Amino acid sequence: MQAQLVLQYTLPEGIDMSIRSVFVTYYSFILKRKELFGLFLMLAITSNISFNLTPYFYKLFVENIPTLNFDFLFRILLISVSIRFAGVILDVLAFMVGDVILFEGAKNARLKIFKHVNDLDYSFHTNKSTGSLISAFKRGDGAFFSFFHDIHARGLSVLVGFLVMLYFMIQLNLIIVFIVCISFVLTILASKFLVANNVNKRRSFNKEEDLISGIVTDNLINFETVKIFAKENWELRRLKQNFKPWTKELWTYGNSFRLIDGTMGTIINVSVFFALYSAINQAVNLRLSIPDFVLVTAFLSSFYPRLWDLVWSTRDLAKNYADIQKYFELLEHKIDVPEPAKPQKLELVKGEIEFRNVNHSYKGGTKNAIVEFNLKIKPGESVAFVGRSGSGKTTITKLLMRFFDPNRGTIRIDGIDIKKFTKTNLRSFFGVVPQEAVLFNNTIKFNIAYGSKKTKSLDKVKLAAKLANISEFIEKLSKKYQTNVGERGIKLSGGQKQRLAIARMIMSQPDIIIFDEATSHLDSESEKLIQDAFWNYAKNKTTIIIAHRLSTVSKADRIIVLEKGKIVEEGIHKDLLDNGKGLYKHLWGLQLEK
Ligand code: ADP
Ligand code: MG
Repeated sequence: MQAQLVLQYTLPEGIDMSIRSVFVTYYSFILKRKELFGLFLMLAITSNISFNLTPYFYKLFVENIPTLNFDFLFRILLISVSIRFAGVILDVLAFMVGDVILFEGAKNARLKIFKHVNDLDYSFHTNKSTGSLISAFKRGDGAFFSFFHDIHARGLSVLVGFLVMLYFMIQLNLIIVFIVCISFVLTILASKFLVANNVNKRRSFNKEEDLISGIVTDNLINFETVKIFAKENWELRRLKQNFKPWTKELWTYGNSFRLIDGTMGTIINVSVFFALYSAINQAVNLRLSIPDFVLVTAFLSSFYPRLWDLVWSTRDLAKNYADIQKYFELLEHKIDVPEPAKPQKLELVKGEIEFRNVNHSYKGGTKNAIVEFNLKIKPGESVAFVGRSGSGKTTITKLLMRFFDPNRGTIRIDGIDIKKFTKTNLRSFFGVVPQEAVLFNNTIKFNIAYGSKKTKSLDKVKLAAKLANISEFIEKLSKKYQTNVGERGIKLSGGQKQRLAIARMIMSQPDIIIFDEATSHLDSESEKLIQDAFWNYAKNKTTIIIAHRLSTVSKADRIIVLEKGKIVEEGIHKDLLDNGKGLYKHLWGLQLEK
């Protein structure tokens, strides 16, 4: 039981982006403005060089103090401080330029990923967990910024510091250079292993963290169900259950930090010992002058803390890397319903629909949801689909709009295979009133106007509302069209939501209408308002109605009866009733009993 609950909340697996592609993707956003990036690097490197010259000035002081010439020493001091100060200015400039690149890059990355996720198929969205996605977005975006600083501020500063030190020390003392190089190389090698370990642990922890936030989000979305079933305590227990693996992974992750700290601390302290041992030894044997000894120790004492920092920044880099990887991996989800290579465009849609030998099974879901489905709908005809729940009615409409492609068979509109239209073009033919109208947490005007391809004027919105029999209700509200409908439209009744959805559909001026009738028991007045609104608008248009109500069925030109994804009966109401043994007569009888 627990395992099943857990599975529900994970993102689709099987995507693992290589380090190379993560970096290539990252720099594709950063290098959009190559000249600026070049300028940034130049400024950052120069400022780092100027900061790293200080030990050389210490050497000059020690060399010149015995001359007792204060003016000269003062001049050296002024020069050294001026250089440091210039460094500060360059540093500020560098990060101003850096921020231009970074802000721009972060925004573009976000837009690109948002667009991709938006474009992903219906099936991605039915399998995703909103909570996991939101945290992947949030963490990824934060990491995008930090990653830049980890590499270009902290990483660069260690590298430049190392090279400047090398430049001076090579002229002085090869043994110490050797020791420093060894410790530098060891640090890099060790951090490679330690950081990889840390990244793995972080990924495992992130999975647990996503489960937790998935549960919390799902709980918040379903608050009404939680309340109706008084499941508050159960929800808390479920969350607590999931905190067990979360705690375990968090500890494993925490321990991987300790391993980094311990290993690196050892490498650095041992190297400092040997470097200083060698310096002292040579100074005592007069092979290293006092000023040079000062130069060496000044370099060492500024370099090793930064090597420490390199470990920390590699650690942060790894953490941010894991987040960015997950963020970018969203781009790797493939779109299963492809766009045509050479799209066709229909200017005037007559509204003829034809299904030919259509078969569909859901991936990892219902097999044979649709079986050998053949149907031709004439322009302007209204066809009602009836059948038991799960018989495939909604699936047919989703295939028609290419939310999925059928495993076999073709669907044509006005004689053209629907795969030849772009998805946007194809979907623009349809106006859909879904079974459960879901609205944006925004105003009534926003929600009705959402259907429109072009105009969003209040007059048009009002007209649509009137046609949908909802304007009287809206006019009575104190804020009228500016009234907020609440999350998913929670502040409206079922009947009001459906009429709003009809108004939204009318705004889109569709060529073909799909109406998935609400099954919830609307009062007869609401039902009449909805029916009147719908049929007034739908006459003379091609219409597919998934009908649950007798009154709807009798108004349709033709009735198609579905059972387990197959058409089992077809005809007009009267003829179907005359067929004494048919499923239609049976369903009809059941409804009359109510
Ligand atoms: P109806 O609208 O007639 O009630 P549907 O077309 O929604 O039926 O569903 C037909 C069958 O396909 C059902 O068995 C249902 O469980 C299954 N199904 C529907 N949507 C999905 C989906 N996204 N993934 C897997 N199976 C699905
Ligand atoms: Mg349905």
